[in-house]
This record gives sequence, C-alpha cells and structure tokens, in this order.
Amino acid sequence: MLDKHQGARLANLWDDGKAAGMTEPEKLLYRSNLLGSDKRITNYGGGNTSAKVMEKDPLTGEMVEVLWVKGSGGDVGTIKMDGFSTLYMDKLRALKGIYRGVEFEDEMVGYLPHCTFNLNPRAASIDTPLHAYVPKPHVDHMHPDAIIAIAASKNSRELTSKIFGDEIGWLPWKRPGYELGLWLEKFCQENPDARGVVLESHGLFTWGDTAKEAYETTIEIINRAIAWFETENTGPAFGGRSKPVLAAADRAAIAKKLMPVIRGLISAGESKVGHFDDSQAVLDFVTSTSLEPLAALGTSCPDHFLRTKIRPLVVDFDPAQPDVGNTLAGLPEAIATYRADYAAYYERCKRADSPAMRDPNAVVYLVPGVGMITFAKDKATARISAEFYVNAINVMRGASGVSTYVGLPEQEAFDIEYWLLEEAKLQRMPKPKSLAGRIALVTGGAGGIGKATANRLMQEGACVVLADIDETALEAAQTELSTRYGKDFVRSVNMNVTSEAAVESGFGNALLAFGGLDILVSNAGLATSAAVEDTTLALWNKNMDILATGYFLVSREAFRIFRSQKAGGNVVFVASKNGLAASPGASAYCTAKAAEIHLARCLALEGASAQIRVNVVNPDAVLRGSKIWTGEWKEQRAAAYKMDVDELEAHYRERSMLKLSVFPEDIAEAIYFLASDMSAKSTGNIVNVDAGNAQSFTR
Ligand SMILES: [Zn+2]
Repeated sequence: MLDKHQGARLANLWDDGKAAGMTEPEKLLYRSNLLGSDKRITNYGGGNTSAKVMEKDPLTGEMVEVLWVKGSGGDVGTIKMDGFSTLYMDKLRALKGIYRGVEFEDEMVGYLPHCTFNLNPRAASIDTPLHAYVPKPHVDHMHPDAIIAIAASKNSRELTSKIFGDEIGWLPWKRPGYELGLWLEKFCQENPDARGVVLESHGLFTWGDTAKEAYETTIEIINRAIAWFETENTGPAFGGRSKPVLAAADRAAIAKKLMPVIRGLISAGESKVGHFDDSQAVLDFVTSTSLEPLAALGTSCPDHFLRTKIRPLVVDFDPAQPDVGNTLAGLPEAIATYRADYAAYYERCKRADSPAMRDPNAVVYLVPGVGMITFAKDKATARISAEFYVNAINVMRGASGVSTYVGLPEQEAFDIEYWLLEEAKLQRMPKPKSLAGRIALVTGGAGGIGKATANRLMQEGACVVLADIDETALEAAQTELSTRYGKDFVRSVNMNVTSEAAVESGFGNALLAFGGLDILVSNAGLATSAAVEDTTLALWNKNMDILATGYFLVSREAFRIFRSQKAGGNVVFVASKNGLAASPGASAYCTAKAAEIHLARCLALEGASAQIRVNVVNPDAVLRGSKIWTGEWKEQRAAAYKMDVDELEAHYRERSMLKLSVFPEDIAEAIYFLASDMSAKSTGNIVNVDAGNAQSFTR
C-alpha cells in the first residue's frame, strides 16, 4: 500500500462557473493554481503549464499565435499572471532552422528572448521548447509522485503501457532542453491519438484542446496511476520494518541534540538553517529494511536531486539501543566522509567547462527511528528540500513495491547539477544579506525594543525566535513579522525567563524550529520604583529574578548551544543607563541592571576562547512602544520628577545632551551592529544609546 495521503484519489476541482468568462490566459492561470495546490501532482516549483493563444500583435495589429508558458523560476501553485512568459509561436518554430544539433542545444536558450511577445519581461524557462513543439493548444507538464514511481522503475516502459495502453506514451530519459522538445513533437506526430507521455526518470506530459480538458486529463491519468499502485503495491512499505519508531517526544529530543552539532559541522562556508520532519512517510522509510540501499541510490526526478543533492546522509543511530552520545561522537567523521565522497563524485564526472565544486555537504540527514533533518541556506530552502525528499520517498516506495527502483545515472545527475544554465541562474541570484542563515532568539520579543530588534535582524535575513510571556502580544508580533518577511523566518515561544524549565524548553523549541542558534538578544525586562525603605523583599527579588537571574538562565542555555555548535556565538544584553548611573527611588532596578552588566562582562571573558562575544546596549527612556513605560512606572517616574506623565518624553529629551528622544529602532540598530560581523572584534563592550548622558559615560 502507498501511504494514506498518496492512496487517496485526486479530486477534480475544475469549476465551470468560475471558469466562465475567463480569457484563455486566465484559464491557464486558474488551471495552473489548481494543479499546483496539491504536492502529489507536482512538487514546489516543479512542472509547468502552457496555452497557445491567438492575440493581436502590437506591431502589426494582426492576430498571431502566442505561447503562454510558466516562466523561469516560478511555481504553478502560486504563480500569478506576470509569472508567465509569452512568445511568438512562429518565431519559436523558426528556431528549428538554426538548431545545430543536440551537442549545441544549450545555445538555443539564448534565442528564446528574441521570440518574446509584447515586451514581456518574464524570462522564458529551459522547458519552453517542450511546450512549444507539442502540437496541442493546452499542455501540462507535472512531476506527480505516482507517475515518477512508474518513471523511476526499472521496467518503466513496460509498466506505462500496462497501465495506460496506447493512451499514454513513453520516452527514455533525456535532459530537459531543446532536443527533448523535438522528441515530444515527433512523438505527437507519430501518435496523434495519445493523450500524454511519461518521461523516464522525470515526469508526465499531458495535453488537451481546451484548458479544462488538459486539466481533467492530468488528474485522470495521475488517478489511474494511484489506483494501479493501490491494487499492485500491497506488500509492506520498503520491504518491511527493521527498526522501531521512537515516541514523538524522544524523536524531538534527539533531533534537538543532533541539529546544532550537524549545523556547526557544515556551516563553515555559509550559515545554514535546519528543518525537522518526522511525518509518517518519513518514519516508514527511516525504519525500513531498505533505508540504506535505497538512500544510496539517490533520487530520480532532476528537480528532486537539485534540491536534495544526489543522495542523503544516513546518520549512524540505532533506535533499538539509543545512544545519542555515540552518534554525536561519530558525526564529524560521517560528515567528512560524505564530503570526500561528494568531492570524488565531482572529480569523476566533471567536464572541462564545469563550474567549480559547490558546497560538498549533505542537505538531507536521515535518522533511523527518528526522522529527517534538512539544512540549507535559509529556512524556506530547508523546508522545501524536505518536501522534495518526501516526494522522492513516495517515488521509491511506489517503484520498489512493484519493480526495482532506479536512480538517475551519476553522469546525468552531475550534468544537471553542474549545468552551465543552472550555474548562470545561481550567478544571477542577489548577494546574501548580512545575517542570512543566522538564527536569533530575542527575549521580550513582543515588546517595543524586542520587536524592533527582531524586525531589524530579519531585515538583514536572520531567522528570529520571539520569546515572551505575553501570549497575545507574542501572537500579534509573530503575525506582523511573518506578514512582512514570510512565515519561514519567524517563530515564537512562550518563555518566562525566570523559570529554568521554561527557558530550557523554549530554547529546545527554537532548536527544533531552525536547527541552531547564533544570536541571543536578552531584552526581557521590567522597571519598578520605590524608596529603599518602601522596597519590599518581593519587589527586590522580582527585579533580581528577571534582570539578573533571567539573563543568567538564557545566557547559560545559549552558551550550551554555542558550545555544541562550535561556531562561535553572539549575546547582546539590553541593560540600562541605570546600570551605570544611580537614579532616585529605584535601587532594586538600578542594582539588578548593574548585576546584568557585570554578568555580561564575566560571560565575555568566559566565552572569548570559543569565539562567543557578549556586549551590552544601554538605552535610556525609550518610551514609545514599551510595555515597561505604561501604567505605574510612568506615573512613578513622573511623580519622582514632580511632573505630568505627558511631560515625561519632553523631560527626557531636554535632559539628554543631544536633546533627542530615543526610540526602539535606535536601540535595535545598536543591537544589530553588535550582533553582526561589523563588530566581529568587539566583546565586553557597552554601547550607550541614550542621546548623551554624562553620568553614564563608561570608563
Ligand atoms: Zn520536469
């Protein structure tokens, strides 16, 4: 049996009511979004759709045939109208006259911009000729798990004809490009009644006379494959289970231990972000007898291995006799061996004009009985790589259940991975931001300074975990930041920094979310005001608990992670002018802030040998957006200075040397400086951001 979600048939979601009145390009968009909404039909970014439409030529006013086809780098599930490229069909056909043969097929990509219709700036993809030369008005190219399972079986041609008869043809493996477009055209000319074709080791092409017919054919053909697997693939998944599955809490606990260590070992070139997946499809694979042999074969569909590397690393861990210490001790060698194997693969397969070897580290780490860990340059890429490997698992499950699974031949895989056209795409990517791949945890993350800091770090590409005790504010902050920067970049954890257990579990959740930690911004705070003779022990302890003990607890946890990661680390404390300068009627607060500053100095000393930097930002009177500066404290301060609360902001401004108000964004800027490589050679420092206050000059 295929797993449950793969076993269910695809629903036909076409709605005539919705499609009525749509133009052909609108129907193409509608069909594309429907197809891409289900990962069983095609993986993220994979596959493409097209329509050949008659349009008025802006130059001549005559009606001409135009190919609308998904442009380079798009995703059919989320594509919008501007994601399609548009090209003159007569010019695309004219390209045949200048084609010099398969060994020159890559040069044809350079001619595609010459075929652009209506100055459309969307670049045409490498797959454009595949759509142009199929002599049908509407063409779908998908990467469905159930079809690739057939396409990646040893006898895929035979299986295709057994399941689909003459309706669906079969073409041997061929790298997508100009030549494959000509093959498809020839196939259609020789088989005018065929409704589609399976491409070996790759995916499916289907077509129709209308957008609806193309869509329904695609769904029908995939459903037929799913149904066939339901009746034929009835044995145990992957030849049966040979290892136990650990309980969910144990799986998470082991992932939290492994992820920072792996991250540290593979992040020398660029910081990486992790993703953990222990879904049922993954667990079936990582507990099976076939785990090692199938993983070694690598993935099949080109899209799959471009995202997951040619093969995963199977971590040496025995769920029957769990010994994480032993696994951790073996990781450096296992990862070094993977890198050496990758370098050997590069050397074996490279050609005279191949680009230089890229990062030789694995993307996918399979942990028997536990799940799958993926690492990439950012969270979205790590998450999508995991999705792709789940696609690959589904493919292996189907193929190995009915036949023998075959990965793509090594040289073919290499030629795609190091394709000069792929390299050109990589070269066009924008330069990474200054904190790309970095992971930060900000305590008091839902408040004024905390949220401004998270915003500043995310602006520079960091992933941020917001930690706060205010559940409502936390939710609002996460929503705000994920709307601005994308869901993948932000998580939140409820954390009372005075509770040892809450701090440990909050950092654990952060590890599970992103795989490590680079930056701790300890910012949670409070402020109280009372004459010393009126300061209760409870009030004194509250200040000490949050501002001294709380800063100790979060730093200790961060240090533990930094040391297991072995990649340095960065701590920024948000203290206060009052940690250096005495203030009337606030002895508990001022003393606790002084303790906090001295803790930072001690930690700077202790962390230096491990490249862990610890610095302090001292704000003063940041009223806007602050939860501290509401209610009591504000009234008490106003009373201490014998003024109205509304006069406070002006009072602080006038009191400062520069006569300026200090805002959360000003503090965030200093924190960003200390958390970034701009301050790589600074530790044990205090940066005052208080608009100037002679009393708090450091000395
Ligand atoms: Zn494809």
